Amino acid sequence: MRILVSNDDGIQARGIAALSEALLPLGEVIVVAPNRERSAASHSLTLEHPLRAALVPFFIPGVKLAFAVNGTPSDCVKLALSSLVKPAPDIVVTGINRGANLAVDVFYSGTVAGAFEGVFQGIPSIAFSLASYEEQADLSGARFWMRRLVERLLQFPAVPNILFNINIPALPPEQIQGIKVTRQGKVRYGDSYDRRDDPHGRPYYWLKGEPEIIDKAPDTDIVAVQSGFISVTPIRAELTDDASLKSTRSLLEGLSR
Ligand code: MN
Repeated sequence: MRILVSNDDGIQARGIAALSEALLPLGEVIVVAPNRERSAASHSLTLEHPLRAALVPFFIPGVKLAFAVNGTPSDCVKLALSSLVKPAPDIVVTGINRGANLAVDVFYSGTVAGAFEGVFQGIPSIAFSLASYEEQADLSGARFWMRRLVERLLQFPAVPNILFNINIPALPPEQIQGIKVTRQGKVRYGDSYDRRDDPHGRPYYWLKGEPEIIDKAPDTDIVAVQSGFISVTPIRAELTDDASLKSTRSLLEGLSR
């Protein structure tokens, strides 16, 4: 099996090393990742300058092929699938991200966006995130579970247009409560910009964002992770709200000039 690995924390992040090492027993791991941190890049693409893919040595000796790209996670996966990785990989896996990607976070996440680029090309894709921003957060539970989850999910035929968004608590394996298949939760970010003054007395703003959980149901991604479970959410690339199609049609399609 050929596995394409990417992330949004940059190729030097400890998360992508942990993920690559965890997946090596499954096959050939090829890393194509941003050359610096591009967290919260979402689906952005680089159009204003050329992309360069530098072949680089990787911390994990079993990884024979690693490229550092001066672009976003979406750039990396698109470039990998179109030009760098032939034949095409069997699966695209991103992460493991430093910090959870839950609820509305999935719209901003470069980790999730990178995995979606695989989905857009019809390749099964998985995004992994660790529910901690700590520099030395506990990756041992994630190390234990990532390969098992990928292996298990690959046993079933891929559903088109779906990726699995997986969030793992930063806990040792024995403290992880189990696996929950969840819905995307609902949070609201409150007034969350710190306003400060620079040395010249001009104001600047820095996002700090403490989310307030709106939906506290136990089957949501955010509550599952807070309760010590691994959260697995199948999410769709197709955003059309089927339930509103009919009512929107009857509201608008009868309008005439
Ligand atoms: Mn990140």
